Order: sequence, then C-alpha cells, then structure tokens
Amino acid sequence: MFRTDLPEVSIIIPFRDEAWSTLLRTVHSILNRTPPHLVREIILSDDASTMEHLHRPLEDYISQFEKVKVVRLKERGGLIRTRLNGYAISTAPVVVFIDSHCEVTKGWIEPLLDRIATDDRIVATGIMDVIEGTNFKYRPYQIDDTSPIGTFDWRLLFKWTRVKYEGDRTAPVKSPTLIGCLIAISRRFFDEIGRFDEGYFIWGAENLEISFKAWMCGGRVEQLGCSHVGHVYKGRLPYNWGNSSQGSVLDRNLLRLTEVWLDDYGVYHKQLCNGCAADIGDVSERIALRNKLQCQSFEWYLENVKPDMFIPGECFTHGEIRNKQHKSICVDASDEESIFGKLHVSVYGCHGRAGNQLWYLCNYGQIRRLRGCWAQQHESNITLTICDDNNDVPRKHFEYREDDTIYHADSRKCLDLYVDSKSRILSLLECTGKDNQKWTWNRGSPPGPIPKYRIRSREKNNGDDSANENDETN
Ligand code: UDP
Ligand code: MN
Repeated sequence: MFRTDLPEVSIIIPFRDEAWSTLLRTVHSILNRTPPHLVREIILSDDASTMEHLHRPLEDYISQFEKVKVVRLKERGGLIRTRLNGYAISTAPVVVFIDSHCEVTKGWIEPLLDRIATDDRIVATGIMDVIEGTNFKYRPYQIDDTSPIGTFDWRLLFKWTRVKYEGDRTAPVKSPTLIGCLIAISRRFFDEIGRFDEGYFIWGAENLEISFKAWMCGGRVEQLGCSHVGHVYKGRLPYNWGNSSQGSVLDRNLLRLTEVWLDDYGVYHKQLCNGCAADIGDVSERIALRNKLQCQSFEWYLENVKPDMFIPGECFTHGEIRNKQHKSICVDASDEESIFGKLHVSVYGCHGRAGNQLWYLCNYGQIRRLRGCWAQQHESNITLTICDDNNDVPRKHFEYREDDTIYHADSRKCLDLYVDSKSRILSLLECTGKDNQKWTWNRGSPPGPIPKYRIRSREKNNGDDSANENDETN
C-alpha cells in the first residue's frame, strides 16, 4: 500500500507543434486517472509552436479546466528550456515532466509520489507502454519476471535493458538511466542538482544528464513497475532542427554532458563521435556546481551503478581492421541489435571515421563493437551477437596472431577477403598465409582509463581472464 500523505504534483507537458488529439489525450488521461487531490496543476508549456490549433483554440478549450494552464516561449527553445519554462511557474513539491503524446493509466502517479515522499532524492520513472505511431493503438508492455531499466553505451544513447525482479514486482528497481518522456522528481532535489542544463539545444542528452547527476550527487534513479504510461513512438521527430541537423544537435549536447560529468571516461565517447569538434559553449558553471555539491566521480558511478560497463581500455587492440592486400578495404558492420544474427560482418571502403569500422579485441578473444561480438555462423561466415553472457564459447573466440592473421581456433580457419570485379567477400577459410588473409590492426589497448574496481577484481581472479567482462545485460 502507498503512504496516505502523498505530496501534490505539478505536471509539466512541453510541446512543439503537437497534434490536437494526442495533446488532449495526454491532458484528459491525466485528469481522468490521477486523484484530483494530488494534482496541483497541469502546465502545458509551448515551445513557440506554429500550428494554429495550439493558440486560441487550445486556450479556449482548456479554460474549462481550472488546473490546466498554458505558458509559452516566444522563440523556439528546445525541449529542455521548454520544460524549464513550465517548471518556472510550477508550485507543487513534486514535478513530473511528461511528453505531449502520452496516455497515463490508472494508478500511474501513486508509485512515483510514494517513492519521492519516502526519499526526495529519488528520481522516478515508470514503465512505458507503446502507443503505435501509425494507428494510435495502446499496446501494453509485456509483463514478465524482468523489469526494463535504462542504460547507455559509450555513444551516450539511451538504451533499454532488462533485469530480473528480485522478488516482488512492485518493488522499485534501481536504474542507471531513465527515458526523458516520464520523469518525476522533487522540487528540492531538482533545484539542488541544477535542474537541466539550459545550454542543451532542442532535444536529447538531458535524460542522461539528470540520471548521472542524480546518482553522482547523492540520489538515485528508480524504475517503478506499477506506474504505466503509454507514449507515442514516432518514426521520426517531426519538428525542424534550426540550422543544424538532428545528429549535430545531439552530438553537441552529448559533448556538453561528457565535459561536465564523464571525467577521464569522456575519451571513450570521443573515440566514437563525429561531432567532437563542435563548439559546446561555456560549461564552467555546470562544473562549478558539480564541485560545489561534491558529487562523486564517474568512476564511482560505474562501480556502483553500472559495474559491467564495457571498458574499451581493457581490450588489446582497437581501431579499423584493414586488409593487407586490398589496402583500401576495412571490416565493417552495423552495431544495431535488430540485425544481429541476420547480416554478416562484411567489408567496406576504409573511411577512417571509426563508426562501423571501429573494432576491439578483448578478453575471451572477443572481437567486438560496443554491443555486438563476432560469432562464427554457418561454417564460413561471421555475424554479430550481443556481447552478454556465454562469451567464452568457441564460436566467439578469435586470435589476432603475430603473422597478422585473424584466426578462429575452433574451426582452424583464417579471416579471408576475396575480391573480384563484382564482389568482395569476407569469410573464414583455410589459412593460406597470403596477404588477403592478413590484416593491419592497432596492437595495444585503446587510450582511456580502467576503473580501479575492475583492476582489483582482475587481480583477485589471479590473472584468470574470466573476470566479469560481460556487458549490457546487467
Ligand atoms: N519538444 C519541445 N521542443 C522541441 C522538441 C520537442 O517542446 O524543440 C517536446 C515535444 O513536443 C515532446 C517532448 O518535448 O513533448 C519530447 O520530444 P519528442 O517526443 O519529440 O521526443 P521523443 O519522445 O521522440 O524522444
Ligand atoms: Mn515523445
């Protein structure tokens, strides 16, 4: 049961050119399915929308609801500043930021408020059900014995993963990160940790920022299995990106995040990112705040919140894998989980920009990207599989030998590149010793720190390479 003294909440809904039906679906579901005594106000925060229905018609319509208000930015501010503009007029001790195309379900708010009332340094989120972007059907999250939690990799993109519930499915689950479309936080803690970074543009990275700093500055992020909110997942983001592209806006925000919160571990992000030359503006105030609050280091975060993070510095080679006979051809594969097992690892012209050509050779003879590990498939092919448990299986075990061949011991085959006028084929074949089976690859660890707890655990295992190297599954 929940506490009887749950605090009141201000619900803040940022919107930029949202459709009438989806915006009102959000508002009405909140009005219908949240106990009125808990709702101090619902604040619709407009990011200088251009659509006509979001002006007079919206104001006329909501005037019938006492608790619903509109505030507006005169100029496009992006979602972070829009949320903050709504926050500025909010008054309740707890705030919830929720997207403008959601449907909350009965009982959604109580678990969030209950946790925050227990400890006001908890940042809480719920389970996101799917509202389909094509027909707006509500598709509930499939409940089983696992909880979704938020995580990330070194690209600093939000990712879902699942962990087994430890007993009761109603118990809070600690989560390394959270998704941006539902964030509940106390006013006190939000103010203390510096709200969101107003230097972020348009979209992205703020959910990781609030997650990292909640953990590192004395709080925590929790995923609550009994709070369900549906969210429309769109095929693409519908609004414009000013004079920039979506990618470059996000890269810039992520770089600000890296500079303020990642310490030395930022190099692992920078090794991957194309937009690292971006002008990120001034972050000195954000760093000063972090110092003033005496927040923990990113290494502390890794050890305590995401101990199984993939650490590139623990690997033995890094970079592109370039063929010795066909010197402009590199091994190439997408690290997208949805195609793992379906596409083969193949080749492409070397482009020198990391991306799909950045490979590491690590413990267990894993050859990997951030998420995908090589595995032999159908005798002579290589595919990617998620690097989780069971990495130490012969199918996934490769060697980069002194003679520059990449050797699959179990099948006793070498990585071979065949090229003719029509095709370029990468496969595992009998070793010939010829240059089309030799590869240039940086020997030595990629630059970057290794957390002390990992070094300790490796020493404890006395040189045994089976120290926990698993990633992404928690
Ligand atoms: N948003 C905004 N200004 C922007 C971009 C987005 O106010 O420049 C709002 C948007 O209407 C939504 C929320 O911020 O309510 C999150 O954006 P979106 O839903 O597009 O992101 P997604 O959920 O697809 O990641
Ligand atoms: Mn959204």
